[in-house]
Amino acid sequence: CGIFAYLNYHVPRTRREILEVLIKGLRRLEYRGYDSAGVGIDGGNSKEWETNSKSIHLIKQTGKVKALDEEIHRQQDVDLDVEFDVHLGIAHTRWATHGVPSPVNSHPQRSDKNNEFIVIHNGIITNYKDLKKFLESKGYEFESETDTETIAKLVKYIYDNRESDDITFTTLVEQVTQQLEGAFALVLKSVHYPGEAVGSRRGGPLLIGVRSDHKLSTDHIPILYRSSGKDKKSCNTLPRMDEDTCLFPVDEKAVEYYFASDASAVIEHTNRVIFLEDDDIAAVRDGRLSIHRIKRTAGDHPARAIQTLQME
Ligand code: GLU
Repeated sequence: CGIFAYLNYHVPRTRREILEVLIKGLRRLEYRGYDSAGVGIDGGNSKEWETNSKSIHLIKQTGKVKALDEEIHRQQDVDLDVEFDVHLGIAHTRWATHGVPSPVNSHPQRSDKNNEFIVIHNGIITNYKDLKKFLESKGYEFESETDTETIAKLVKYIYDNRESDDITFTTLVEQVTQQLEGAFALVLKSVHYPGEAVGSRRGGPLLIGVRSDHKLSTDHIPILYRSSGKDKKSCNTLPRMDEDTCLFPVDEKAVEYYFASDASAVIEHTNRVIFLEDDDIAAVRDGRLSIHRIKRTAGDHPARAIQTLQME
């Protein structure tokens, strides 16, 4: 019942360091209760991190975070000394609602045997049976008993049927979350979008921690609205990178992001956090964070504050 993700952008980290951050994050969330745990990281043992980001490695285990940690160290084909200049790792503790606690039902759940898209999810997708029936009718084969697996398969279905090759990860997740009913906090990772993270929530908690050695030049992130109208993808006072992204206010191109269910999991790394609201879609791409919503409604605050938590 806990989500933790860690993205390092031009901050070189060995796989060992990345896994340590992920495991520590999960440990901080242990109090929320869980029956199994798992991580998803870049695979491959090449010296080129770009090559390694073309595959995803999943390690999942029933029981305590300690059992997952032991399983990680049993992996023969995972070189812990490989260094990544850019990397996204996602980690999860599961409180089973659909399907018994088991490695295959643990998260990350995946889109297919090649792990093209993986997802960690807290909550319950109430319409998962309808989604599953639809996806099975399209030839997608399910391996777990979870409601969560429908999310991973639905992203792949939309990706496989994309009209344009430059569809962004954000757009994919936007289209997926519009089909989901129930409660969720989720984070996705994909071999098609190396070094990118997309997270969203509805009813479940999710926040983002930001760490940079440089001073942040603003204390808020404007929302990008998908729908037309005067607020269409407005960057307000921030410079724009492209149609989808406002430049995040970090001066230097080295930054780390943490996605977590609870601030207690990120506080040892940073005290700068952004609490997401229901139906926000947050994406990190090229080291920049952007927050998207489908459309602006009355009473919406068109920005999210970067808050400073009090350190103890
Ligand atoms: N409903 C999902 C499952 O059973 C997620 C449970 C959770 O929040 O940990 O796998």
